[in-house]
Amino acid sequence: MSRVYNFSAGPAAVPVDVLKKAQQEMLEWHDSGMSVMEMSHRGKDFISIAEKAEADVRELMNVPENYKVLFLQGGATTQFSMVPMNLLRGKEKTCYVNTGAWSKKAIKEAKIHSNVHISASSESTNFTTIPAVDSWDVDQNAAYLHYTSNETIGGVEFHSIPDVGDIDLVADMSSNILSREFDVSKFGVIYAGGQKNMGPSGIALTIVRDDLIGNVKAGSPSMMDYKNHADAGSMFNTPATYSWYLMGLVFEWIKEQGGVSAIEAQNVRKAEKLYAAIDNSDFYANPVELTSRSRMNIPFTLANAELEGLFLSEAKSAGLVTLKGHRSVGGMRASIYNAMPEEGVDALISMMAEFERTKA
Ligand SMILES: *Cc1c(COP(=O)(O)O)cnc(C)c1O
Repeated sequence: MSRVYNFSAGPAAVPVDVLKKAQQEMLEWHDSGMSVMEMSHRGKDFISIAEKAEADVRELMNVPENYKVLFLQGGATTQFSMVPMNLLRGKEKTCYVNTGAWSKKAIKEAKIHSNVHISASSESTNFTTIPAVDSWDVDQNAAYLHYTSNETIGGVEFHSIPDVGDIDLVADMSSNILSREFDVSKFGVIYAGGQKNMGPSGIALTIVRDDLIGNVKAGSPSMMDYKNHADAGSMFNTPATYSWYLMGLVFEWIKEQGGVSAIEAQNVRKAEKLYAAIDNSDFYANPVELTSRSRMNIPFTLANAELEGLFLSEAKSAGLVTLKGHRSVGGMRASIYNAMPEEGVDALISMMAEFERTKA
């Protein structure tokens, strides 16, 4: 068996130790006589798995008591709709910050339900910056302000939580949740799809402050109401049990690494190395303004775009895969989430140097 270093943006690499644990437990979880995916979600075994996952993520993120942690289906994309449907509370206006492709998708859905005010946008720099927070136009009477804490496609990340006053803050943390410390108490809602930093797709984690639950817009389908999910412990319908279990294994793994602060230190090191390799070369370039660069998704271009195909095939021969940039951006993109070991980043840096030396 030869596992590659997978730089995919999502679904993305999962820690090998997590896969091994899942493999060990595949046919029989503990003494249950069955696989987790065959268990009733109402049985005591699955309930214990579900509760442990919740307790672990609460501990890792230091989630205050007055927040619910929900394990939902439909990915982060469903949260694009659930957020306005639950948080409008009779208001019409919402504020959004547009920092790229994922912000735009969230805005598009929010427009179905609300009158979206764009508080700030980095469109004029082709989404290579974060607009200075003191320049944001925030209507304190809007229902909430939404931003994307890491733009997975553009490789742009917020390095602090924007201070926007008393308005409820909502963040799409799909691609940087658990990669760095966040003060959950600063948010009304945090949501993230599973497949970047938490394991498999098919599940989204939503952390929502209690007082924001129970106000769903009249006429909304039951599945869109946070209250139904909160009251039922995320078992309003059959949850994505196996994904929930795997997410729990990832949370355990993060705890074994020393928690979020230890993971964050590794992520800083990994990203700094890769950016240094790019910046110290005349052949590779990253377009993002220095203070807005993502630690998770690092797009880069080659001075000679005609060499892209060759770069990808040489990378693949070296066991480094899924480096092709998003179709909307071009070039390359290395996604180096929590599960990407530092050795994978080192291997990429060596391969890049060798490619530049021999092919450029
Ligand atoms: C991947 C991603 C999404 C979409 O997640 P799905 O699970 O496919 O719905 C939303 N926002 C961001 C920032 C992402 O990276």
